[in-house]
Amino acid sequence: MRALQLVADRKLETVEIDPPPPPARGEVTLRISAVALNHIDVWGWRGMAFAKRKMPLTVGAEASGIVDAVGPGVSELQPGQIVSIYGARTCGLCRPCREGRDNLCEHVSGVHGFHLDGFAQEKMNLPARLLVPAPPGVDEIGAAVAPVTFGTVEHMLFDNAKLEPGETILIHAGGSGIGSAAIQLAKRMGCTVITTVGSFEKMEKAAALGADHVINYREERFEGVVRKLTKKRGVDVVFEHVGADTWAGSMLSLRRGGRLVTCGSTSGVSTSMNLMQLFQQQLKILGSFGCRMENMANAMQKMAAGLVHPVIDTIAGFDEIDTALKRMEGRDVFGKIILRVN
Ligand SMILES: [Zn+2]
Repeated sequence: MRALQLVADRKLETVEIDPPPPPARGEVTLRISAVALNHIDVWGWRGMAFAKRKMPLTVGAEASGIVDAVGPGVSELQPGQIVSIYGARTCGLCRPCREGRDNLCEHVSGVHGFHLDGFAQEKMNLPARLLVPAPPGVDEIGAAVAPVTFGTVEHMLFDNAKLEPGETILIHAGGSGIGSAAIQLAKRMGCTVITTVGSFEKMEKAAALGADHVINYREERFEGVVRKLTKKRGVDVVFEHVGADTWAGSMLSLRRGGRLVTCGSTSGVSTSMNLMQLFQQQLKILGSFGCRMENMANAMQKMAAGLVHPVIDTIAGFDEIDTALKRMEGRDVFGKIILRVN
């Protein structure tokens, strides 16, 4: 069977590997349906000095699959069912795992596709407890964007930033996978959404997703526009994942007592910060990574109810991943790029 492997920095190859053995106790064999690409794939492909990993490494951090066979002791999943796959290999035994807060696992082995072999392979065995069944009405594409895209955003907005109806939120990079999910989730709960994008075409698309105000950050300083739109008050919440390029402006965009929640740093991992602004304005900075299992289920329920939908830029094949990653690196994407595996 085929797998897509990173063999050196910026070098991916499609290779033949052995299919998995029959599933062990508590495991399921999945036929992988679709892999959704994320910035973590771009980081991994470029090479990261601080990430410990072996090569060759099968890529793919976010995916859906169809249950092919179930091992002994697995009663909650049936062959033929569509499932969404949790992105990290957690222990299942520590207290956070037992509480369904797998992103705080004390003995995590790593993130698939980054530290450990990922999902860009035709079949693989995984623990049943890391699979969330898709409800009726959610297809393999919807299930593929539930873990890292919608799950991460659910966790950021609702568990960490505790977003309330009626609040105003600034969502950076509304054309990104998580940005396009955040616009929909915040809007559906009755928030005023301000978002930033990098081109005129993306402005229209972001407005169509429900954003109330769209700022082209290449034309205008977003923090100035945010001050104007909020009559100098500032927003209640900033949804950050850009990092170095936007951090100072994001802090300036918050109201007194506002919350900044961040899950990424696509423009760079280091920045400086005005501490006086932090304490005088009583700002709250919340780091967020991954999600709880329930966030994936909640996201898919909202998809099934028609409240939100995955925004798809392109559905590509294995051999098109280089082009896809280059486009993501150049921010020339609106929504998700999906690799079709089976
Ligand atoms: Zn654990």
